[in-house]
Parts: sequence; C-alpha cells; structure tokens
Amino acid sequence: MEDFKRDSELWYGDGTIILVASGLGFKVYKDILVKQSLVFEDMLSFPQPPSVEGQQACPIVPMPDSAEDLRHFLRFLMPAKKPRTFNSMSACIRLGHKYQIDSLVEDSLPWFSKLYPSDFATLDKHRPKPLPPTCAIATINIARLTGADYLLPMALAECCQLGAEIVNGHQREDGTREYLALDDLGRCFQAQRKLIEARVFAIERIVNQDLYGECKNEDGDLVEEFHEQMREGAIPGFCSPNFWESIGERITSRFPEICRQCRKELATEERDQQRQIFARLPQLVGVTVDGWGKSRAQVIKGPNERANQSTTKRGRGRGRPHAM
Ligand SMILES: [Zn+2]
Repeated sequence: MEDFKRDSELWYGDGTIILVASGLGFKVYKDILVKQSLVFEDMLSFPQPPSVEGQQACPIVPMPDSAEDLRHFLRFLMPAKKPRTFNSMSACIRLGHKYQIDSLVEDSLPWFSKLYPSDFATLDKHRPKPLPPTCAIATINIARLTGADYLLPMALAECCQLGAEIVNGHQREDGTREYLALDDLGRCFQAQRKLIEARVFAIERIVNQDLYGECKNEDGDLVEEFHEQMREGAIPGFCSPNFWESIGERITSRFPEICRQCRKELATEERDQQRQIFARLPQLVGVTVDGWGKSRAQVIKGPNERANQSTTKRGRGRGRPHAM
C-alpha cells in the first residue's frame, strides 16, 4: 500500500523516482533531476529505501517542499505543460535556487521584470497588471533571494499601497504566508512618505501649466477648479504613493467638456512627471540599482558588452546559488 496519493498529472509510467510532498507522489525521471542539479545528485546518490512490492526498483523520496511548489517546479524540468503564472514562476525561482538549477532561475526572472520593470516604457506597457497587490511582497523576497535588485523599486513602490495589510504578508498557494524582512518593511514606511511628496509635487506641476491658458474654451479655468477642489479636500485619494495612477484622467472625467488639445497637454505633462519620478524611484524607495532606467534586455545585451565583461557581475548578489 502506498502511503501517498499519485499526482494525476506528473506520474510517468516509466518514471524512475517518486518524490513525495504533502502526501502527494510525483513519479518522474531521476536522470533529468540529477543532470540539472548538484543538490539532487548528492541527495539521490545515497542508497534509497526499497520501493513498494511488485514495482521495479523506484526509490521513494520524501521532499520538504509543498506539493504545489514541487508540481510547478517539476513541470518546468519534465516534458510537461509549463503554465506561466505568478505561482509557477515564483515556485521555479525558489526551488530552482534551493536545488541549484541556475538556468531555471535565470529563465524565470524575466517574467517578473515585465511586471516590476526597470524601464519606463515597460511600465507603461504592462499596466495595470492582473495580480493581487501582495504579490509585490513575494517579488521583493525573490529579488533578495536571487540578487535581482532591479525588481525592488517597483515592487517596493507597490508595497507602499498595501497600508496596514502589509503586515499580513502574502499568502502562497499552499496556504502558508511569507512576509517582508524587517528592513524592507521599514523601507516601505519611509518610501511611502517620499512617494506621496513626489506625487503631490507632480500634480501641482500638471495642474499649473500655462498651456491651458491658450485654450479658446478656457479649459484652464476647469483645471484650476479641479485644483481648488483638491486643495479643499474634495478629491479623495490623490495623496497616494501610486505615482502611475493618472490624475489627468480624473480631471477629464470630472470635466468631460475639456477639449482634445488640453487633454493632450495634460497627458503629455503627466507622462513627463511620471517619467521623472520613475527615474528617481530607487532613491525614493531606498535602494540602489545598476542600470536603472534600462530594460533588462538592454542591460543584458550591452550596449557596451566589452565594458560589461571587464566588470563582470556574475556571482555577485546575496544568496547566489553558488560561486561561478
Ligand atoms: Zn482646451
């Protein structure tokens, strides 16, 4: 009698090892694991306990991971469907790091850099994103684990919007919770104030432009009216750390009669202000990031590859799997 349930998906009839996590067995190929991971090689080189009667010698190995994490991780190593979701990608990074499969970690990080980008163009393209806000907590922990500092500024900025919820952390698929480290939590308190200041300053710039004055319809008066309402406290929520939320759209939805040209001016100035805040984001949230403002593809490709080689950064960063 097996004391685990067989996973309905990852159970290959000709598999050569059974990994058991949270009472669920995954029958997979030992060779694939051993070839890619020194940890598995070490772990599986010990004599394994005999397997259940009637089956070929197929070692059964208890695993300390959750069944959910292990399933995501094994899908990316075995010939299986590989759905790319927040849960699957974060499991690949956490377990890829733990079992020292660098290629899995490196292949998974770009998925995060689209959602927590280091360049303004990518930020523009991938907003809003369909993720629970607490995913930013898990992303910060992933950045800390792998040394992917470029994920930190946007993830920290998003954490600043969680308010009191930040202390409840992020709930993983298996029901366990992960939390921010205390110094990152402290960073969020500090960053929230700085981001609000930057946003209020940006809004002042947006509503105070002379450009609306040239409008035939005198839309400048409407913008000024909005500004006045803001000062009187009649516009709730504009004092938020969310610098990428549009104030221009709130103005034009309040005053739909604002002309096309003024809308354009408003949007251009707003984008410019957002871009300026984004450029200063690492400083505002209290981290330093090499190559901030460039996309990850730009940073990896060059432009000056030779210069990159001379100051190679491989193996740097906290908790890299192992020295190169
Ligand atoms: Zn106008």
